[in-house]
Amino acid sequence: MPPRLPTVFVSHGAPSLVLEKDDPTHRFLIELGRTLPRPKAMVCVSAHWESPRPRVTAHPRPPTIHDFGRFLDKLYQMRYPAPGAPELARTVCHLLELSGLDPSLLDEERGLDHGAWVPLSLMYPAADIPVIQVSVQTAAGPRHHVEVGRALEPLRDQEILILASGGATHNLREAGRWDARFGQADPPSYVRDFDAWLHQSISGGKLEALLDYRKAARDFKRNHPTEEHFLPLFVPLGAAGEDARGKRVHRGIAHGVLSMAAYGWGI
Ligand code: ZN
Repeated sequence: MPPRLPTVFVSHGAPSLVLEKDDPTHRFLIELGRTLPRPKAMVCVSAHWESPRPRVTAHPRPPTIHDFGRFLDKLYQMRYPAPGAPELARTVCHLLELSGLDPSLLDEERGLDHGAWVPLSLMYPAADIPVIQVSVQTAAGPRHHVEVGRALEPLRDQEILILASGGATHNLREAGRWDARFGQADPPSYVRDFDAWLHQSISGGKLEALLDYRKAARDFKRNHPTEEHFLPLFVPLGAAGEDARGKRVHRGIAHGVLSMAAYGWGI
């Protein structure tokens, strides 16, 4: 029997993370790829692909999407040439439909956005593991994403890695101001408290509190003015199965207010 693969949520920060060799999250992602059991293929849920219904990429050779502005030229030249996995994409659609989710759609045109290729190019620099993406349904809320994760759970027994990429906190406006004003100062309490709440809730397997984040967490809205970077977390949480307890495998703060925390289940 192949090993049951863990499920993982990572915070990807700014696209420039991929170039910042001394950054602790950059180094963590390299190490994460080395320590996880090597997957046969990956399903990546990135905050940078939102659609009303679940969509699944089925491009055999997904192009690299440079979906960001005002970064170094070098970043726009980067490619992540991992193969796609059209057969796996069809399996994912089938699993989602079996779970009674809205009929999902294959997307044969779309490539990999930076929410996927920034962490993947650090975790698996050889780009030799097939990868597909599944979109986020921001309006559908957290429970829907837990259901998506539950539908995908059987893939863990087929050596497929379920990897979500978003941000543990994600107030970009305040991140920009923080960089300009404070440089390396400690993060403000609204970030520290939310980061601690998230860690306690995940390590305690408190699924209901996590699902009720708008009420259960202080300053949720300030940490996540929009929810698309938080919702991917619920997919690996759902795919964890019965035991919702996860482990924080990385912590750090970028740009003063962005938690770079990463979590794993079954890890
Ligand atoms: Zn992002």
